Amino acid sequence: MQSGKTVTTGLVLRETETKETDKILTVLTPDLGKIPLIARGARRRNSPLAASCQLLTYSELTIYRRGNWRYLSEGSTIELFDGVRQDFELLSLASYFAELTESVVGEEQSAAEVLRLLLNALYALSTLKKDPALVKPVFELRLMALSGFEPLADACAVCGRSEPEQPMLDVVQGVVHCAGCKQPGGLSLPLTDSSLAALRRALYADGKKLYSFSADRQTLQQLQHAAESFVAAQLERSFRTLDYYKTIRTEQ
Ligand SMILES: [Zn+2]
Repeated sequence: MQSGKTVTTGLVLRETETKETDKILTVLTPDLGKIPLIARGARRRNSPLAASCQLLTYSELTIYRRGNWRYLSEGSTIELFDGVRQDFELLSLASYFAELTESVVGEEQSAAEVLRLLLNALYALSTLKKDPALVKPVFELRLMALSGFEPLADACAVCGRSEPEQPMLDVVQGVVHCAGCKQPGGLSLPLTDSSLAALRRALYADGKKLYSFSADRQTLQQLQHAAESFVAAQLERSFRTLDYYKTIRTEQ
């Protein structure tokens, strides 16, 4: 390895075209978190960097620093997630995953677990062909948990009952409670026993088994609504990519 260069793996969360033929990438790496990365000439025809500079591409990246910026010197693709790339609806969902991830990960901090979560979600959509209605809420909830927004879901937050009666998720307070234990000031959505079980799986299951369960349509719809509302209430922002995905997804 040449001096001054570092090698890392990274997934492109965003690509911005700049002057002439360059790109500025936002890349999620295990050790540095998300980093801005300039790829000189990446838009030039036959650029050896082009493949590694596409949105949602996972590569081994050779990086060097000059001044305050990092530059991409070489890229070797590891996974392109073709199954996502070739499906317009999946690509739009994956783009939302990237935007959501970018919003919760800081720069210059370890993000190995978040990177693994996102890679597994893309693999589940691309290769395993898992139901997007399952992958989306599970990814959202687990990402929030990894980012310091984990809801308390192991028992009713008020009376302590491990199986809350007529369970609800308070998306503002970030707690599960019985319908009768509702506290003022929150925003609670109804769950069922099965959607509470799915929510707990999303939060507590082993990472490798995160998407290996099935649930009926009503359960998944309820979980989707709860997860989406939880993200919106906790992060207090909307996502352009999510708004777009919701306009094109076939299953509402
Ligand atoms: Zn209770």
